[in-house]
Amino acid sequence: MEKILIIDDSPVQANFLSSILTDDYEVTVVNSAEEGLKQAKAEEYSLILLDVIMPGMDGFQLLKMLQEEVILRHTPVILITSLNDIQHEEQGLTLGAVDYITKPFHPAIVRARVNTHIHLYRYRTQIEREATVDQLTGVPNRRRYDAVSGKRWQDAIRLGAPISICMFDIDKFKVYNDSFGHPAGDKVIKAVAETAASMLRRGTDFFARYGGEEFVALILGGGAENDFAHLQKVRQAVENLHIPHNPEVSQWVTVSIGGITVLPKVGSSFDMYLKMADAMLYDAKRFGRNQVVWTNEKMEQRREK
Ligand code: GH3
Ligand code: MG
Ligand code: MG
Repeated sequence: MEKILIIDDSPVQANFLSSILTDDYEVTVVNSAEEGLKQAKAEEYSLILLDVIMPGMDGFQLLKMLQEEVILRHTPVILITSLNDIQHEEQGLTLGAVDYITKPFHPAIVRARVNTHIHLYRYRTQIEREATVDQLTGVPNRRRYDAVSGKRWQDAIRLGAPISICMFDIDKFKVYNDSFGHPAGDKVIKAVAETAASMLRRGTDFFARYGGEEFVALILGGGAENDFAHLQKVRQAVENLHIPHNPEVSQWVTVSIGGITVLPKVGSSFDMYLKMADAMLYDAKRFGRNQVVWTNEKMEQRREK
């Protein structure tokens, strides 16, 4: 059931509103803007119904604060108020409210408007999810990677934590496609993605399809030693899938992985280190594939084999 948050200083008004919606939605009621902000941060709501006139922080101020919080910016807010002049309505809509309902309201109208905005919200979140997930593999796509990588880099700088950047590439995959066909190749990409993703699922891990038969992983806070060791396990897990390759090339499908661990500082360039990870991948290919090659800021290279 979709969750709705009602913020109104008058318990009578809030409960009346709640009674209109409670059959179709899971409704939470709070009686001040301060509590409303806390509640909106604590849980994910599909819609917020916000009273404008309240003692202390008023609805307009709270709306402004909600718009400033990145995670809450997309939660639709309907203002409910007895202020029925044009200026206030305009102010509310300009601040980002999706709708404006004036008191006294008719229950059927409130229900209809709420339903509309819940539908739009559901539709938008679905589209957003589809836009950030790779269809074939179900892992985050390149677009998502582009959005996340910068943030993870900044997190590492802020926390003073090491971050590892790793590039994966399936070995001799053109031969695989040529030998077994493109649909079979797609299945391999999916299996490799699922295997790697299942081993990179902590909150501090991020794994995405970079493009074609290439993947990228970002690991926050692990350190070179740990991450190099872990990626060797991931590489081994792919080999252990025992997907037969063209025997002229190799027995099983394998991946090569290049990685770098850095302690980024303000002004450090993510793209430069990504290029270094790519250079390590290139070395892994050169040294014979199916292996992990790692480095650090001092370019002290470690090879698995
Ligand atoms: P290397 O070991 O050096 O990486 O050799 P490779 O053959 O894997 O390298 P190359 O980059 O030449 O070939 C990548 C191949 O991956 C070519 C392309 O047909 C295939 N490929 C890319 N995206 C997809 C996809 O979505 N599905 C399938 N089935 N194949 C793909
Ligand atoms: Mg490639
Ligand atoms: Mg390849």
